[in-house]
Amino acid sequence: MKDMTPAGDLATILLSQEPSLDAAREVLRESGIEGEEATDFIYDTVCQINRDSFFPLHKVELLLAEGCDMACSYCFESAILDPGLKRRRVMKDEIIERAIGLLFDHVSGEEEVGMTLFGGEPTLNFSGLRLAVDLFEVEVAKRGVSSFINMTTNGLHLTQEMVEYLADHRVRVLFSIDGDRETHDRYRKDKKLQGTYDKVIANMKMMKRRQPWIGAKITVMPSEAARLFENVQALVAEGVNQFVIGAASGVEWSEAENAAYLEEWQRLGQWMREAQPKGVRISDFEEEEVKPEGPQFGCGAARGTIAVNAAGEVAGCSKIISLDGQKTIGKLGDVWHGLYCIRERADMAGCGRLKANCEAAGIAETYHGGCFATNYEATGDLYQPNLEDFSMAQRREGVTREVVSPG
Ligand code: SF4
Ligand code: SF4
Repeated sequence: MKDMTPAGDLATILLSQEPSLDAAREVLRESGIEGEEATDFIYDTVCQINRDSFFPLHKVELLLAEGCDMACSYCFESAILDPGLKRRRVMKDEIIERAIGLLFDHVSGEEEVGMTLFGGEPTLNFSGLRLAVDLFEVEVAKRGVSSFINMTTNGLHLTQEMVEYLADHRVRVLFSIDGDRETHDRYRKDKKLQGTYDKVIANMKMMKRRQPWIGAKITVMPSEAARLFENVQALVAEGVNQFVIGAASGVEWSEAENAAYLEEWQRLGQWMREAQPKGVRISDFEEEEVKPEGPQFGCGAARGTIAVNAAGEVAGCSKIISLDGQKTIGKLGDVWHGLYCIRERADMAGCGRLKANCEAAGIAETYHGGCFATNYEATGDLYQPNLEDFSMAQRREGVTREVVSPG
């Protein structure tokens, strides 16, 4: 490293609202640092600033393949799955290597570290998936930390070979299944607009024979809200153990549909509390998922979690990074230069702007600002709270709290 580098100028550029890599390179070029050496210099400088200014990271989400052969009506990734997009769609090995390096350059070395394999559909890049898992395991072994690997899949492409590999490497697989055949097939169709229920359930059962604990991610569309309880029961009967349930965002919910959703949520809570079904868990009702009363601004995005897309750009989570196919919203950096959008990370991790906007709306006493991605969908601003979400979240969190700590 050359002493003559004007580190002050570089830091000023990196700490601006929209840091210019060209300007940073120009500063370094004047000091005789160019090409790959300049890239590495920026990466190291940025790494140090992040380590000094933020909590360590603990999870990376990889969009291994920004393609999918389904056409779900509510897909929050439709902006990045658009076949007309010109940019790279499948994550190359170099980006996978750098993304995992980026995570491990920002972990504490003590806390549990995780990786989520995501798409579009991650199994469409199985060689990349294997590389990611293998590299992740090597880094975990070097540090001796505990770890987990998750994968979210539409379940259509699983083969016996994949099942063996995922089970051998203890990858926790979450199938996107929305309920019984009627509900699932209404929105989760393939490109020929055929329902996918039978294929997904068959592949889920193939996985279950090798790895008994199976998770399902249910996306609840407004028209299906009143059938949520029934849909969970149907999937339990098919062998699902763990549920991650989320209301579809970016679609219109009527007051009646909201009320039906809440009622079903209450039914589910009551069932979990009273029947205590063996071998069934619903993530929202797990104690650690329940948010404490009062405002806790923000979520894991940019604080402990990053997501990397196939082009190597980085944002706070896979939902944020999928908001726009042309431009990465809430960009934190890229895998070559690290998390160089330091002010964006400070805004997201520190929640100063989100909190100020909640205060201006008069809801800061009781609302934690919601999800950055759904805020953006509703308001065009990650840090402007979505007021519809606010009222629903309030009601739903109340029910959840009641289930976890009755009375
Ligand atoms: S399977 Fe997932 S990624 Fe593919 S279209 Fe459906 S919601 Fe989108
Ligand atoms: S921004 Fe939304 S989707 Fe992303 S981690 Fe936060 S709450 Fe979850």
